Amino acid sequence: MNQASPLSETAAKTLASPLAGKVALVTGGSRSIGAAIAARLAADGAAVALTYNGSPEKAAAVVAGIQAKGGRALAIAADAGSPEAVRAAVGKVVETFGSIDILVNNAGIALGGPIEEISFDDYQRMIAVNVTGVFVATQEAVRHMTAGGRVIHIGSSMVRYAAFPTASLYTLTKGAVAGFNRSLVRDLGPKGITVNTVHPGPTDTDMNPDGGPVSKIVGPGMAIGRYGKAHEVASVVAYLASPEAAFVTGADIVADGGFTA
Ligand code: NDP
Repeated sequence: MNQASPLSETAAKTLASPLAGKVALVTGGSRSIGAAIAARLAADGAAVALTYNGSPEKAAAVVAGIQAKGGRALAIAADAGSPEAVRAAVGKVVETFGSIDILVNNAGIALGGPIEEISFDDYQRMIAVNVTGVFVATQEAVRHMTAGGRVIHIGSSMVRYAAFPTASLYTLTKGAVAGFNRSLVRDLGPKGITVNTVHPGPTDTDMNPDGGPVSKIVGPGMAIGRYGKAHEVASVVAYLASPEAAFVTGADIVADGGFTA
C-alpha cells in the first residue's frame, strides 16, 4: 500500500462506484426508507430490484428515477406476507440480472395498539410481513449468494428503547429480526456472506411523519434535535453493502440521532 495514501487499497479502488457489478434486492422499495435505499444502492453502481405491495405507481417512479440516471432497476409486485410471492420475486431478480448479491429486508408494517386490544388478525399479519417475509426472502436469496454477499435487515431502535406504549407487537417483530440476525452470521460467515441489521430511530416517512402523532412524543428525545431522513438510513445500508464492510457481520447498527443513547 502507498504509504502516502490514507485510504486502504479497497477504499481507493471502490470509492467511485463501490457496488459496480452487484445486484441488490430491496423489499418494500416503493416509498420512504426503502425507496431511498434503492436509489442509493443504484447510485453506488448496483442493479436494483425492489418489491412493492400497495404502491405500483410509486414503485414505477423509483425505477424510472434510477433509469433516468443510467442505472438498472426493476419493480416486482410481491407482498412480503406471501412466501410464494417473495420466493418468486427472488427468482425474478436472478432471472433478470443473473445473480443476487445484496438483500435488504426493509418491507415492514406497524400495526398495534394496547396489548389487550390487538386483534389476532393484526398479530398474524405483523408476523407474516415483518418476520416470515424476512425469513423467506433471506432463505431464498442466500441460496443464490456467493462470497461477498450481503444480508441487511432494517430493524428498529425500539428494540433498544421502547419510548411509548402500544408498540409491543411491532417491537416483538423487530426483536425477532435482531435475534435472527445474530445467529445467521454463524451459518453464512463461512460462505463469505455478512449479515447485519440497521436499526433506524424516528425517521420522517409515511409510516412516521415528522410532525405526526409519534413525533410529538419522541421528538424531544432526539439528541440531535430533529427526525432522521430516509437517505440517512440508506447511507448506513450503503456502507454495509459495500466491499469496505467485509469484516462487519452480526452488527446491530443504530441510526437514530441519539434517540436511544
Ligand atoms: P413506510 O410505511 O413509509 O414504507 C413502507 C414500505 O414498505 C413501502 O415501500 C411499502 O410498499 C412497503 N411495504 C409495506 N408492506 C409491504 C408488504 N406487505 N409487502 C411488500 N412491501 C411492503 O415505512 P418506513 O419507510 O418508515 O419503514 C421502512 C422500514 O423501516 C420498516 O421495516 C420499518 O419498520 C422500519 N423503521 C422505520 C422507522 C421510522 O421512524 N420511519 C423507525 C424504525 C424502523 P407499498 O406501499 O408498495 O406496499
